[in-house]
This record gives sequence, structure tokens and C-alpha cells, in this order.
Amino acid sequence: MTASDIDRVRTTLPQFSTIDPTKIVAKLSDLLTQNRQGIDALLRDPSAKTWANFVLPFEEIGDRLNRFWSPIGHLHGVADSDDLREAYNAAITMLTDYTSELAQSDDLANAFRNIRDGDEFATLSLAQHKVVENALRDFQLGGIDLDEEKRLRFRELSAELATLTTQFSEHVLDATQAWSKNILSADSLAGLPADALSLAIQNARNKDESGYTLTLDFPCYMPVMSYCDNRELREEMYTAYVTRASDQGPYAGKFDNSNTIDEILIRRFELAKLLGFSNFAEYSLATKMADSTATVIEFLEDLAARSRPSAEQDYEKLKEFAIEEIGLDSLEPWDMAYCTEKLREKAYSFSQQELRPYFPVDRVLTGLFETVQRLFGISVSEIDGIDTWHPDVLFRGIRDREDNLRGVFYLDLFARDHKRGGAWMDECVVRRVDATGVQYPAAYLTCNFTPPIDGKQSLLTHDEVLTLFHEFGHGLHHMLTLVDQAAVSGINGVPWDGVELPSQFLENWAWERAALDFISGHIDSGEALSEDLYARMHAAKDFQAGMQMLRQIEFALFDFTLHAQEPGTMPVQTVLNQIRQKIAVAEVPAFNRFQHGFSHIFAGGYAAGYYSYKWAEVLSADAFSRFEEEGVFNQDTGRAFLECILERGGSEDTMELFKRFRGREPDIEPLLRHAGLSR
Ligand code: ZN
Repeated sequence: MTASDIDRVRTTLPQFSTIDPTKIVAKLSDLLTQNRQGIDALLRDPSAKTWANFVLPFEEIGDRLNRFWSPIGHLHGVADSDDLREAYNAAITMLTDYTSELAQSDDLANAFRNIRDGDEFATLSLAQHKVVENALRDFQLGGIDLDEEKRLRFRELSAELATLTTQFSEHVLDATQAWSKNILSADSLAGLPADALSLAIQNARNKDESGYTLTLDFPCYMPVMSYCDNRELREEMYTAYVTRASDQGPYAGKFDNSNTIDEILIRRFELAKLLGFSNFAEYSLATKMADSTATVIEFLEDLAARSRPSAEQDYEKLKEFAIEEIGLDSLEPWDMAYCTEKLREKAYSFSQQELRPYFPVDRVLTGLFETVQRLFGISVSEIDGIDTWHPDVLFRGIRDREDNLRGVFYLDLFARDHKRGGAWMDECVVRRVDATGVQYPAAYLTCNFTPPIDGKQSLLTHDEVLTLFHEFGHGLHHMLTLVDQAAVSGINGVPWDGVELPSQFLENWAWERAALDFISGHIDSGEALSEDLYARMHAAKDFQAGMQMLRQIEFALFDFTLHAQEPGTMPVQTVLNQIRQKIAVAEVPAFNRFQHGFSHIFAGGYAAGYYSYKWAEVLSADAFSRFEEEGVFNQDTGRAFLECILERGGSEDTMELFKRFRGREPDIEPLLRHAGLSR
């Protein structure tokens, strides 16, 4: 066995159980001092700058900080506490200062310029070129060309933005956790599936209440909206959910993000203007594939126009069904998911719930690993004795065809208190190579699935299976990289609108019959999804595709339009209302404050970048269409995707990599076809 690579991994992984929130600030302070001294020493060295004497040690200094900070940032997301939050917020300020300081260091920028202009440059690899070019670009985006006064202002803005975006996500988390509703009689919960009822009982127990307790955590919220016959309850929960962290709803004014949103937008705009961009949207595109704000708007509007007829039909059908068959007087927002589920059942004799017994979490995981083994020849296996932050967390390693270790990952699947909602992949350790050898990449894969109830295995919905495949796709991009330079290995240096390519790509296999044969297995009988159930599930795949497409476009256009205007030109709510008028097919109530919980753009990296999902979906659907042509488990095609995309990270232009894999420019047709919109 290859114990040595595992030993090597162990030395780079965080020791979660020893992280003491009260010591974080002091430790970080020491580390930053050490880093500053290290960088000074590199810059003072009078010999001509080379890759070996400057870039590599500089990378190592940055990596040391990343490895220190990654587990802290991660814990803040998945195991929040007051102590940790306090330390995190103080640390964020120190880190932002440090980052801005480096971004604006003339000496550092000059060192990179010297490398670019020196004789050695021609002998460096494409990946190394990319590292240097990206660094020079980022100096520019960090304010290196500004005068002293403006530089200072730039740093202030960056620091304030870091605080504000953290505040935004803390408000959302607090608002989500503040609301709960205890219900004593199951009669009020008629229609709710058994596992959702069990979750509500478990919630009640955790809070020392009797009966059933409902929360705004997604695994609890969504089943109520989709299945609960009690319309008043749906309305109450919908209202609580869509007013989280706002001036409306049950906690109106508490955890309110109204001001936070405005303050974020003002600062982003000023920051972009300082750098000479017309607005933040333009600034955001400086590091993306899309070449202009007009391109993005055109792309979204074109997609909206193509989806509109189908979306309008979807909505009319749903409304008619709600009134004529369910007997409602009107179709309200809190009826949408409920009526959708009922209509799906009627039209396709198919319900999401019917699938759950076929997706026990262990089976799905084995099936996922089998899928990627068949596609890329990699194998996933357990690694023992790794320190994690919660007993539910799994730890696995990935080996390639030649049995070389490629990377490792933590898998944290279930929703729980103090854990941020949603699903994401994040970097724990980044691949890099130095004189001592390879530093293997490590990923955090985080989901918020329904937890196991009463010791029984968790049964996933098919949507959750898709989410798992999605995040694992990101994980593969991070872990299968063969790039040796941290700044462009894995997802580093990949433009944001290209990052969703591998993730959305992998989702396709969760729809494939040949894959479902081993991804699914009934919890009692072990049998795979029957031909009949599969046919119904597949027929229902395009159900309301037009409406879903428009919903994503609504979010994307809202985000992009908001960031393309000068703050204050139009109130945020007005921007959203106007986009909805243009795009949405269903009315949204005036109290809806969707934007107050839109963490992707106000707390995550998607600001003026939410369109990336759709942008990358053109690429992922088109990439998958090559598998449709050549066989979904064609090993040569799998190897080509591995070698052209997954292993290359940000070391080359993403569009070039795509074209190398596909043999041509991307085509939008497969996306429309997969979404059932091209017929
Ligand atoms: Zn993603």
C-alpha cells in the first residue's frame, strides 16, 4: 500500500478539534507578521527575480496562510458559535487589510513585472505564464495604478465590504434560526410525507417541545410548501421564509439586511469607479469569460425569450389546475409548489416522494463513486483516523488509474443547527508542487440533506441526488487537477462563469438509465428504479422547465442589472420589480423580500455573476452532448474530459480548453434540448 502519500496528506490537513476560537486572532496576527517578513526578505534579495527564488517561495507563503484560514472559514459556515463568529469577524478585517496591502505593493508588482519581462519567461510553462499574467491583472484590479489617496480609499472600501457581506450572511442565518412553529396535532399537517413528519418530531425533541416543530431549514420548509394541505400554514411559512432578514414578516426589522444591501452596493460601485470601470458589473467581467455587460444581458434576454412561451403555458396550466381541480379561488405563491406537485402526480403519475426509497444515501454515494470510476477511471476509498468537525462527516481519498493519490475530501451531508443552508464545495488544501513533492488537494463538500431520523438511513429526493452530483463535480475539478502551481490549480484562476461547467456536467449522469441502475436501490428490496418509474421520472423531467428557466434568469438579470447601475438610481426593490414584470410569469406579493436572503450575490462570490450558472450550462450541456453522441460511459470521451478540462484547472483559457474537448465553439442547442425548450 501507499502509506506515504496518505501520511503526506495528514500533515497538511487541519486539526479541527484543536481550533480554539479565543486564540485565532493572536495566531493569525503572528502568521501575518511572519508572512510580511517573509515577503520582505524575498523582495530585498538583490538577485534577479526568478520562478525558483521568488514566485515559488511567494506561493508557499500564501499557501501557509490559506491552510491556516481555510478550516476557520469553513467552521464559520458549518459549526457557527458566538466565540467563533467574534474571532472570524476580527480576523476578516485583518485578512482584508493584508490582502489589500499585498495587492497594492509596488515592490511585489514590480517583481512580477520583472519575471514577465525577464529572459526566463520564455522557458516557463503555459501554466506559469498564466500565474504571472493573472497576478499582474489582479494588481491592477487591486488598485496598484491608483495614487496614494485613492489606494487608501480602495483599501477602506474592501475592508468595509468584507464586514458588510459577513453581516449579510449572519443576518440570514440568524433570521432562519429565529423562526419556528410548534404544532401539537398532526391533523394540521395532513399531506406531509412521513419522513417530513419524523423530521418535525425530531426538531421538537431537540427543542424540548412536544408534537411537531417546523423550521425554515430547507429540508423542513420545502416539504411543507410542496405537500401540506393546510393552506394557512403554507402561507405563514412562505411569508416567514421570503421575509427573512428584512423589514417585513414575523421578525420585521430584526436582522434586517435592507441597509446592508444598500451599503454593499454603494461600496462596490465606488470601488469599480476608482479602478476606472463604469460600474461594478463591468468590474466583475474583468475576470470572467463574458466580454461585456451587453453580452451578458443579451445572452440572458435571448434565453428568456426562448423560454417564455413554454413558461407561460406552464403557468396557465398550473393556474387552471389549481382552480378547477384543487378548488382554490386563486393561485397564490404559497400554492405554487403544492399545486405543482399535485399536477406532476396527475400528469405523470409521479411524485418526488415515490423516488425517495430508491435513493438511500449510502447507495447513492456508492453509485456516485461508481459513476466517476467508469467515466474517469478513478476510485474513491475511505481513509481512517482523520480529525473532523462533526461525527457525521465522512472522509475519502481519490486515486487514479495508476493508483496515484489525486486528492481527498470531507463530505458533510446533513442539515443541522448552526450550519449555513445550501450546498457548496470549498477548498481546504490546494494542489501545488515544490522541492519536497506534491501537496495533495483537499475539498470540503457540504450539503444540507434531510438528516437520518431515528437512526434510519437518510433517503434522498432526486433533487438532492442532483445536488450531490453537482458539488462532487466541483470537487473533481479541485481534486483531479494536475497543475503544479497553486494559483491556477483546480478551480483557482478559472473564470467564475466557467466554474459551473464540471458541476452541472456531472448532474447529467443522475438522469441516465445506465447510471441509475447502480445509483438507485430500494431501501427494502435493494432493487434499482423500475423501468416504469424511470419512464415517468424522465417524462416529468421537463415539467415546468420554462418556468424554472425564467426563475433563474430573473435572479441573474436582477443581480446583473443591479450591479450595472449607479446605486440610488433606482431602489433595489424597484429594480427587482421591473425585472419581474419583464421576466416572471407569476405575481409576487409586495412583502416578498427575496433579495434580503440572496446570499449568492451579497455574501458569496456571485455578485454580477449569477448569470454564470446559465452561461456555464451552455458549456456543460454541450460537453455532455458529446457523451450522448459517443456513449455516456465511453471511456475515451471520459478521458478526454478529464484531460482537457478537469486536470487543467485555470492553467489555460477556459474557452480554449472547452474547444479542445468539443472540437468546436460551444452550441446553445443542447441546453435548450435538455431543458425541453427546443421543440
Ligand atoms: Zn455550483
